[in-house]
Amino acid sequence: MTAAYEYETHEYDVVVVGAGGAGLRATLGMAEQGLRTACVTKVFPTRSHTVAAQGGIAASLSNMGPDHWQWHMYDTVKGSDWLGDTDAMEYLAREAPKAVYELEHYGVPFSRTEEGKIYQRPFGGHTTEFGEGPAVQRTCAAADRTGHAILHTLYGQSLKNNAEFYIEYFAIDLIMSEDGQCQGVVCWKLDDGTMHVFNAKMVVLATGGYGRAYFSATSAHTCTGDGGGMVARAGLALQDMEFVQFHPTGIYGSGCLITEGARGEGGYLTNSEGERFMERYAPQYKDLAPRDYVSRSMTMEIREGRGLGENGDHIHLNLSHLPAEALAERLPGISESARVFAGVDVTKEPIPVLPTVHYNMGGIPTNYWGEVLNPTADNPTGVVPGLMAVGEAGCASVHGANRLGSNSLIDLVVFGRAAAIRAGEVVDAKAANPVLNRASVDKAFDRFDAVRNASGAIPTADLRLEMQRTMQEDAAVFRTAKTMAEGVEKMTAIAAKMDDLKVTDRSLVWNSDLMETLELTNLMPSALATIVGAEARKESRGAHAHEDFTERDDENWRVHTVSRVEGNKVELSYRPVIVDPLTTEDEGGISLKKIAPKARTF
Ligand SMILES: Cc1cc2nc3c(=O)[nH]c(=O)nc-3n(C[C@H](O)[C@H](O)[C@H](O)COP(=O)(O)OP(=O)(O)OC[C@H]3O[C@@H](n4cnc5c(N)ncnc54)[C@H](O)[C@@H]3O)c2cc1C
Repeated sequence: MTAAYEYETHEYDVVVVGAGGAGLRATLGMAEQGLRTACVTKVFPTRSHTVAAQGGIAASLSNMGPDHWQWHMYDTVKGSDWLGDTDAMEYLAREAPKAVYELEHYGVPFSRTEEGKIYQRPFGGHTTEFGEGPAVQRTCAAADRTGHAILHTLYGQSLKNNAEFYIEYFAIDLIMSEDGQCQGVVCWKLDDGTMHVFNAKMVVLATGGYGRAYFSATSAHTCTGDGGGMVARAGLALQDMEFVQFHPTGIYGSGCLITEGARGEGGYLTNSEGERFMERYAPQYKDLAPRDYVSRSMTMEIREGRGLGENGDHIHLNLSHLPAEALAERLPGISESARVFAGVDVTKEPIPVLPTVHYNMGGIPTNYWGEVLNPTADNPTGVVPGLMAVGEAGCASVHGANRLGSNSLIDLVVFGRAAAIRAGEVVDAKAANPVLNRASVDKAFDRFDAVRNASGAIPTADLRLEMQRTMQEDAAVFRTAKTMAEGVEKMTAIAAKMDDLKVTDRSLVWNSDLMETLELTNLMPSALATIVGAEARKESRGAHAHEDFTERDDENWRVHTVSRVEGNKVELSYRPVIVDPLTTEDEGGISLKKIAPKARTF
């Protein structure tokens, strides 16, 4: 029997799910072109996790010294450990300056140089001369509150362009036609319990990452991979989920982030002997080597007995040698975080830090226009009509096996913008909206109703904790065949317990128990795909450091993992990495020789 829920139907050209940097940039771009655009979000737009982004946004503006988009592209290719799609990486690096100047003109209050140009700071893995020259200052910043500045500006601009916001609406499931076209999304309004069906010619998933699949993460509690969950339930694929970034400097204990900008401004790491150990691991770029590299080095120091504290289990980040005025001007936010979360005065003492889960390189596979792919053996880049994904929820893939710092914010605006450009081409504002597939709408309500009335034995919070601890232990910075095999077994059993969940509150108004349970139904497929994909990948690449297969294996493994999750089962297949750039050297593009795979040292 079908669950009986009354609902209101809303018709739009485009519905964007998510109001972080990616969702807002897409919303703004759609609305600017006159498409009737709705943005649905479970939290108030300016509370999306993007608000917490500190360090900045990468673009080769050359404001602080020589830079070139090809150098940015090279760094991104190498940063990805040759797993990124080359066309998308070229698009990112080429379009980045335009996207940042647009932000400036929309009103983002960037920090300034003496001459009034946008201030840029060094960040890990960003170099000059195709990795041969010194570190570059490429990361545009608004002090250490760059995400905050971007989000507020984009929200204001979207309102100005008449985008319509549905705030504190929780998207439950996609509406799919019989022949696989996305037609809209079913939502629950959190504050009054009403149900809403959005009918759209294009749905854009911009729901952010799934950091909360882990016990200790820098991301907000709302980062639960809802887009990935919806996609998995629609029978569509997730990609490269085994690549999870650990940020070197989460505050020990709380996991709260200290931006890489702190090292960009001259901060450095030390072990219990007071040694600047990064000089040993990365002689050229030291503390500004990419994150996977620094996180592994820190973990080795701790393992070899040179960690700090009673348990020898963390590392120190030193900033006290920097002038107090520089700290106050460039890093005010993290000075405050260090005081609140570690009880440390950064002008006097080091901050205790530890690698902490920070970013999901994997996500919903897309091309560089944000169109969602449904990869099959015959057609690895076929698109799903009516569906796009942008931001951390998506996987274009520009970050491959490891993302460079400040390359996410630029990913949000470049691909949010690209999705809008593409929608301008494929969405016909004059055409009628699709006739909704009733069966798909019913299925969404049935699932919602089943979760709402779940009357098993396990409280949501308990199962979530079990999942988070398992992921933290078995899909960590370093991974072995044994720990991952155990992880797969444990996670398969944990996911099976989803059928035995207990929801105690049956109401529809501000029911956080129900919301968190729905979120767990989204976290679980992402977590499963992560550990299963990791177990299968018999090599080390980027953030996937396999202790039994310590080398990168391009011959067998320069491929994207494609996972389809059903219940507690994951089916894996692989699709080729796109190795051709958008333009040839003759057309002004990068030389293929420059970006050919080689050993990744710093
Ligand atoms: C502490 C921290 C600092 C960072 N600093 C930097 C930095 O300096 N530079 C950089 O490049 N990157 C940084 N990153 C990474 C970057 O900020 C994120 O990857 C990025 O902000 C993600 O943006 P997004 O738009 O994809 O998603 P988010 O900003 O996470 O937004 C997700 C949106 O989706 C909505 N949503 C989710 N599920 C649903 C649902 N079911 N129904 C309705 N709405 C839903 C939410 O309401 C929200 O609006 C940082 C990340 C963290 C955690």
